[in-house]
Amino acid sequence: KRRPVIAGNWKMFKTVKEAEDYAVTFLEEIKDVTALDIVLCAPFTALYSLKNEMEESIVHLGAQNMSWADQGAYTGEISAQMLLEAACTYVILGHSERREMFDETDEIIAKKVRKALAAGLTPILCVGENLSIREEGKAVERVQGQVSKALEGISPEDLSRVVIAYEPIWAIGTGETASSQDAQEMCAAIRSTLAEFMGAASEKVPILYGGSVKADNIAELLSESDVDGALVGGASLDPQGFSKLIHNAA
Ligand code: 13P
Repeated sequence: KRRPVIAGNWKMFKTVKEAEDYAVTFLEEIKDVTALDIVLCAPFTALYSLKNEMEESIVHLGAQNMSWADQGAYTGEISAQMLLEAACTYVILGHSERREMFDETDEIIAKKVRKALAAGLTPILCVGENLSIREEGKAVERVQGQVSKALEGISPEDLSRVVIAYEPIWAIGTGETASSQDAQEMCAAIRSTLAEFMGAASEKVPILYGGSVKADNIAELLSESDVDGALVGGASLDPQGFSKLIHNAA
């Protein structure tokens, strides 16, 4: 099976000081973990100081968003180059909160994915349906469409550096996790869409599940053949709790 990836998405939580305190406890708790990749996606302001804390560690740093532009008059935006300087190797793109609250379209997300790949960052492309789409029975169609639109025209070689996160919107922050069978079904559907773009190399792409993942449901999710890890929101905010989740996944 593919090497699991467990990524924490802190969202808009943690000051620089809180992030530094977190890092001390977290690094101690996970220092023996070798079986999976760990990513912490912190707010922009905390990244640079986390770089110093994490430098010699096994933890990869990620951002939660990025501009599609290189530089220029884009007030409030952050470039790929700026993230690289803060030792980021991953960047979450197209999170449902950005799609819904900040009007990010599939076209905008596609531009960001290209820019991240060109800069050498690993994009964590988020896709997922809302409850009404699921109830209409159109979840697979919607999610496959999001994947296709974000990745169209990217070379198979570049696609091999992408991570996908399937996050059903109705499961985010609600305590209601998708069943591991539902997660498996969608992750397999995503992989079949990837195969249309890159053939058998789609077998190598990590596909994560996100939405109310906790220490006590991670093992079951990971037991599914196409679920390769998790993107964890609320349960990544406490260093002890998140390390417990990671140990249960390892
Ligand atoms: P929760 O784990 O808090 O449900 O959030 C999931 C998420 O949106 C991660 O990106």
